Order: sequence, then C-alpha cells, then structure tokens
Amino acid sequence: MTKEPVHIIGGGMAGSEAAWQAAELGVPVVLHEMRPVCLTDAHQTDGLAELVCSNSFRSDDWEYNAVGLLHEEMRRAGGLIITKADLHRVPAGSALAVDRDAFSESVTNALKTHPLVTIQREEVAGWPPDNWSSVIIATGPLTSDNLAKAVLSRTGQDALAFFDAIAPIVHLESIDMSKAWRQSRYDKAGPGGDGADAYINCPLTKEQYEGFIAALLAGPKTEFKEWEGTPYFEGCLPIEVMAERGPETLRYGPMKPVGLTNPHNPTQKPWAVVQLRQDNRLGTLWNIVGFQTKLRHGAQAEIFRMIPGLENAQFARLGGIHRNTFINSPKLLDDRLRLKMEPRIRFAGQITGVEGYVESAAMGLIAGRMAAADHSGRRLAAPPSTTALGALVAHITGGHVTDSQDVSSVRSFQPMNVNYGLFPDIVTGDLRSTEGRRLKGADRARARKRMMSVRALGDLDAWLADQPGAALQNRSQSSDACATRT
Ligand SMILES: Cc1cc2nc3c(=O)[nH]c(=O)nc-3n(C[C@H](O)[C@H](O)[C@H](O)COP(=O)(O)OP(=O)(O)OC[C@H]3O[C@@H](n4cnc5c(N)ncnc54)[C@H](O)[C@@H]3O)c2cc1C
Repeated sequence: MTKEPVHIIGGGMAGSEAAWQAAELGVPVVLHEMRPVCLTDAHQTDGLAELVCSNSFRSDDWEYNAVGLLHEEMRRAGGLIITKADLHRVPAGSALAVDRDAFSESVTNALKTHPLVTIQREEVAGWPPDNWSSVIIATGPLTSDNLAKAVLSRTGQDALAFFDAIAPIVHLESIDMSKAWRQSRYDKAGPGGDGADAYINCPLTKEQYEGFIAALLAGPKTEFKEWEGTPYFEGCLPIEVMAERGPETLRYGPMKPVGLTNPHNPTQKPWAVVQLRQDNRLGTLWNIVGFQTKLRHGAQAEIFRMIPGLENAQFARLGGIHRNTFINSPKLLDDRLRLKMEPRIRFAGQITGVEGYVESAAMGLIAGRMAAADHSGRRLAAPPSTTALGALVAHITGGHVTDSQDVSSVRSFQPMNVNYGLFPDIVTGDLRSTEGRRLKGADRARARKRMMSVRALGDLDAWLADQPGAALQNRSQSSDACATRT
C-alpha cells in the first residue's frame, strides 16, 4: 500500500473520470491539465471535461444500443461523467445530450472540491518524471506536441499516429455471401498465417465499377478544417482522392481484381474487386481494405451499398480522416492498460484508440480503478469482454487483428466506437416472440442485442461486486441523478 499519488495527465473526459474513480477509492490524485496555460486548437474554455464539438453522448437506450449500454454500465460503476451528464441533460429524444457549460462546470467543481484531488494547471511537456510511480496519460486527440514527441521517442515510430484514416467497418452478418466469397489473393495465408481464405471479396462488373467511381466522384465530401492541416500519407489516400487521379486508379490499387476467382461465377473474371479484412479477433467485424474516405457519412452508406454483396451492409463505423493522436494500443498496452515496457504508465481515453466522449470516459473509469487497485496492492482485471467496458478494453489491447504479411494491415489499428460487434456472440437457437413467432432478420438482430445487453449488465454487476468499488456502485444507484432507466 502506498500513499504516493496517481498522476493523471489531461483533465478531459478520460482524465476527469480516472481522477474521480481513483480518489473515490481513497487514492490521492494529482490532475495535470494544461489549459488555460497552453491551449488546444479545439477547446474553448479552461473547464475540465469540455465537450469540444457536439453536446451529445449519443443513444441512451441500454437495451438495444451499445453506447446506451455503456452509459448504464458507467452509472453502475459510479461514473462521474455519466452522473453529471444525467444531471445536466437537455431534451434530445432517446439520446443523452447535455448543457455543455453546466456539465463541464459541474465536473470541474466535483474534482476541485474532492479532498483527495489536486489540480495543477500545467503542461506535462515531456515523458513523466521517474519519481511518479503511477501515471495515467489521458491527453486525448489533441495531445500537446511536447508530450506527443516524448511518447513517440519512448514507444517508437510506428506506435503513435497523428491522424486517423478510417476505412468503413461492416458487420459480418450483413454481408451477402451468395455474391461475395472468401479467398486471399493468390491463396496466400491470411492473419496468423492460417488459411487462404482470409479476405471477403465482392466482385464488380465493368458497368458496376464505372457507376461506383462516378458516385464516388460526385458524392459530398467533408473538408479538412484549417487546423487539420496534416498532410495525407500516400499509403492512406482517401479513395475519392485516388479516384480523382483517373478512373482506373482504384482498379490498380485497392480494387485490383488479380489473384482471385469468384466461385459463384468462375468463368467470368471480375472487372474489379472490393476486399474486406477481418478487423477483430471475434471475426464479427470486417473493414473494407483501403477505403479510408472523406465522403460524408450519409453518402458513404449509400455509395458502399452499391458494391455487390454489401447491398444490406450494416456499418459498425463509417470511414473518416481526422486529426487525432493515438497509440498502437494492441502492440503497446497490456490487458490492464499499462505500457508493457514501463508498467507504471497507463493510457486512457481517445489516445488509446477508442473514439468518442463516452468511450474515452469509459477508459478513464477503468484506468482510474486499476491504478487505485495497484495502490492497495490488489490486481484488478478488466471487466469481462461480455460487458461494454470490457469489450472496449479487449478490443484495444488485443481484439484488433493485423496481417503481418500485409503492409497495409500492420498499421491498421484505428479508433473505434463501442458496438455490439466487439462483444462475444451470444449462442442462440431459434428466437421467438412472446406470441411464439420465430424471429427473423431485423427482429432477430434486435432480440440478440437485448440478450447481449442483459448478459453485459449481469456480468458487470458481478465484476463490481467483487471489488471495493462496489461501494461506488451502490451509492450511484441510490442517487436520483443515476437512476437506472428500464
Ligand atoms: C475537433 C474534435 C471534435 C470532436 N467531436 C466529437 C463529438 O462531437 N463527439 C464525440 O463523442 N467525440 C468527439 N471528438 C472526440 C473527442 O475529443 C473525444 O471523444 C474526447 O474528448 C476524448 O476524451 P479524452 O479525455 O481522451 O481527451 P480530451 O477530452 O481532449 O482531454 C484531453 C485533455 O488533455 C489536455 N492535455 C493535452 N496535452 C496535455 C499535456 N501535455 N499536459 C497536460 N494536459 C494536456 C487537454 O487540454 C485536454 O483537456 C472530437 C475530437 C476533436 C479533436
């Protein structure tokens, strides 16, 4: 047991939550926040947990929506961010949206007045000093340059990214395998070297290809904001930029049809092929290879559903390219969010490769609890991967898969929102409605989501009950602001 404080760098969504969790578990915290001494390009205030853009925490539906489930888990774990969001919610239908100023002020006050929290307004401008025995780096997508450089030199060139180039990710169950097929190009082995069928291939005829290119060129794009002046790397060019270079460019790039035979129509060579690569260890999510894009989200869904086999694609996430700072967590972190090469250092928040306010706060919640456990000489394992909290930890610390033989895959870890594709599947036979009707299609998918959500809350309660933090849980549940919605 040590009285040394946990040093938390960054007082955003993750750092504020981590500070609260650790302090509530009796561990002193020093929270280092650089604003207002140093500013970022997006924050406007000196408040902790400032929402830099939208005021929405997205869906609050725990039964059928993975982020709503994450809200509920955070309520049960006594989360500061969710408690204050509930307290300052504004009307937004089934979403949880907040009065941003009141929310941030309320988080700031809670931490300012906590007897175990000291807030220091300063930039941590280099690698954390050796005499800080426990550190959580939660500096977010706009980590200061000085600290980013220090992280880069400590962890290595390919371990830190300064922007995300995200290709859309599709739920496996929504891919039409009567049109698509599994095969690696030239039947070469896929992830883990085990098999010649590592990719899912969608074939296009000449007419389909030309229609697709025309739609790509015509589709509405989002523009980089001025502060996002990060240049594209040639290896991460958006597909529409490639298409602008000439109608054949994609056919010689990510859509090349070579080394593949369509078993549904073996005598006809496809004019172009779109490939999907397994994105998570569970095999439930597949990314469209090389399809990072700045197309607007609405247009992406419409245009990508033109691809044979993806007509009914459900997207776990759509593509995008943004200024972002995140580490290669699957390579660098252990399953307790600790830097493998230096376990006194944890990472939390968006810098770990989760995406969004809620997910970032969620990783702060876990990191804060784990750091507090270390201080008491306990070893706290992550929640089970059947929970939304555990599924996120599992994804960033090991769930994402790469193909070591495929250069484009080695740096393919990209930020991820929580979604049901990150959860282990739930084994189900026939599912029936209360009237005994056999559920199919969307009804079945909805019923499965609910089963996964119910399983998650049960497993989370068991995880919480097993640790001193159960006290936090009980207090949160008895508070009006955190009342469980059913
Ligand atoms: C422009 C922009 C718009 C976004 N819009 C949305 C949105 O609408 N919805 C959504 O869900 N997500 C959005 N995101 C993502 C969002 O930033 C994250 O989801 C969330 O805020 C990340 O939480 P965090 O705690 O990891 O980082 P942050 O909330 O950004 O907190 C990091 C904190 O660390 C501080 N800091 C940085 N470097 C140092 C240092 N060296 N020393 C001390 N302090 C430091 C910063 O000042 C900041 O307060 C957006 C991101 C950006 C960049």
